[in-house]
Amino acid sequence: MASVQIRNVQKYFGSTQVIRGVNIDIKDGEFAVLVGPSGCGKSTLLRMLAGLEEITHGEILIGDKVVNNVAPKERDIAMVFQNYALYPHMTVYDNMAFSLILARSDKAVIKQRVDKASEVLGLGELLDRYPRQLSGGQRQRVAMGRAIVRDPQVFLFDEPLSNLDAKLRVQMRAEIKALHQRLRTTSVYVTHDQIEAMTMADQIVVMHDGIVEQFGKPLEIYDHPRNLFVAGFIGSPA
Ligand code: ADP
Ligand code: MG
Repeated sequence: MASVQIRNVQKYFGSTQVIRGVNIDIKDGEFAVLVGPSGCGKSTLLRMLAGLEEITHGEILIGDKVVNNVAPKERDIAMVFQNYALYPHMTVYDNMAFSLILARSDKAVIKQRVDKASEVLGLGELLDRYPRQLSGGQRQRVAMGRAIVRDPQVFLFDEPLSNLDAKLRVQMRAEIKALHQRLRTTSVYVTHDQIEAMTMADQIVVMHDGIVEQFGKPLEIYDHPRNLFVAGFIGSPA
């Protein structure tokens, strides 16, 4: 686990500024949710945390280390995307083991990590199946398993449930929360869904047009929205 600090971060694509000086402090072990309308910069911020996008100005720290110039592979993070892109020709076991095989981990370590992840996620019976033989929820669990086996300091989630139907989405929210309660890995979770944010977050970061409008606990934000945007977006009667 590690804290995550985003200090006065800005991002330009060409001459267009899409992140306009963002400051966020996420404590060790916290589940933070970045929420805001489509296009407000959530994925860009997450991609900068992951090292997939250069930081134009400012600093990002994971633990006490500035990671601006640290390559994605060297950052102790694992990312879960919305299109979970499992390898179709590999079994569930191999999908989860793959990144550890690439990292040349010891075979016994790989088995132990995959077994633990599949136990945590209830995938024990499915290790020999192929992705096409799984339901949407099961595939999502494998995608999370691939992140868990790496035992990272930080999990990054980019709208991981947006391709699932409403009922499954509700179930997976609860599963991800339960997982967090068990592993306590610092998590940054991006969504445009206010209910998802309200139900899952220890801390919510409300974003709008490249800035942070408000940062706080779900009920604080709901009861005391700082401005009309937050009030309207979170949907409290202000
Ligand atoms: P969100 O995830 O909140 O929907 P994004 O971070 O994807 O928003 O995008 C924020 C803004 O940056 C949008 O206006 C988007 O069009 C723009 N953008 C994202 N990626 C690129 C890119 N690679 N090149 C140029 N503009 C981009
Ligand atoms: Mg996005």
